[in-house]
Amino acid sequence: MTENQRGNRLDPWLDSYAERAAGLRESEVRSLFSVASRPEVVSLAGGMPNLKDLPMADIAEATKQMLLRDGYKALQYGNGKGLPQLAEQLTEVMAYEGIEADSANILITTGSQQAVDLITEIMINPGDVVVCEAPSYLGSLGIFRAYEAEVVQSPIDADGVIPQALEETFTRLEREGRKVKFFYTIPNYHNPAGVCVSEERRPQIVEICKRHHVLIVEDNPYGLLGFDGRTYTSFKSLAPDHVLYLGSVSKIFAPGYRVGWACAPSAMCEKLKLASESAILCPTSMGQYSISMYLSEFDWRNQISTFRGMYRSRRDAMIQALNDYLPMCQWNVPEGGFYTWVKLPQGLDAKDMLPRAVTNLVAYVSGTAFYANGEGRNHMRLSYCYPNEQDIREGVRRISEVVNRDLELVSLFGTAKRPAPGQH
Ligand code: PMP
Repeated sequence: MTENQRGNRLDPWLDSYAERAAGLRESEVRSLFSVASRPEVVSLAGGMPNLKDLPMADIAEATKQMLLRDGYKALQYGNGKGLPQLAEQLTEVMAYEGIEADSANILITTGSQQAVDLITEIMINPGDVVVCEAPSYLGSLGIFRAYEAEVVQSPIDADGVIPQALEETFTRLEREGRKVKFFYTIPNYHNPAGVCVSEERRPQIVEICKRHHVLIVEDNPYGLLGFDGRTYTSFKSLAPDHVLYLGSVSKIFAPGYRVGWACAPSAMCEKLKLASESAILCPTSMGQYSISMYLSEFDWRNQISTFRGMYRSRRDAMIQALNDYLPMCQWNVPEGGFYTWVKLPQGLDAKDMLPRAVTNLVAYVSGTAFYANGEGRNHMRLSYCYPNEQDIREGVRRISEVVNRDLELVSLFGTAKRPAPGQH
């Protein structure tokens, strides 16, 4: 019996799928969702924005007024590129971060996630190389895998991606005759590492990518969430023709509208639009009208400062708890965004440890989710965005119980893996 014939009993369509469907796998975060969302589990796993500070009654009222005014357009198909008035407003959001953009170069997408999908669709033949940071955002790694890209990850440190290592990566790949199509980077308040690319490194990275003719895909959903309001020079500002910039309202307002955008050089913007139209006809009209209403009628800049303060106090709770309960680990102190990237002591394995953590009623994401090749076992991503300060502290305390037990096993047996029954 062949593998497919065996599989047919479970899924009669198994031998009809395209080969690339084999690359579609449940992400490590999604598969955790069902357990992690049980009320007794403290989840430091997901990266869900915390919406508790949104003025919900005001949003409801404004949405009603918007529908009474624009409802026949908001509930209708729109054009493939997106609502022009919203594209204009999104240039103001970019300007708030110091980035100059022309609304003609903006394509509105279904979250920035769809923009990553579109650029991969139009750029990648199976086997082409995408270079990204090590670690990188798991949602984008999933897209690259689905399009059968080969993912090569280049190391980062506390100042973000390391220029010299990036240069070496490109040079090695070129020597091997492998085509690098783009460099995917999250330069600000990185997911999962929490770091920013230093100002000093930014022009160096641009210069390296230009020299090797590699497009920079600058994915920037967290750039306005620096706790001190600090923003960085964007790659796009340094090299407008060499960068595909991705933005999102998910973290600075709300993800439920599913509105993100790509800002691309003109010809590329046209190609992305055609790809988007063939996938979805047009981005969500209701979402776009709602975001447009929010950006014109609400003090969104002030809302962003409220978010910054709320995430800062959660970050503080996380760092305090790490200091108190996990002194045997190492971590960065993020200056913005949602995540801490925690290194476990020698001999501990975040992926192996996860079921024990969940049994102890706490969830995190194993570092392996952020690598294409199974690395990352010595790291875990702890998100502080969603739970409150007490839960963050309790979650870290529960992790520390598991870490301490595993450390004891490592000191006794050289491994934290429990011997199978009957084995000694
Ligand atoms: N890029 C990064 C780095 C992210 O963290 C996320 C969401 N977690 C996205 C893209 C997708 O965001 P959205 O589709 O909601 O805009």
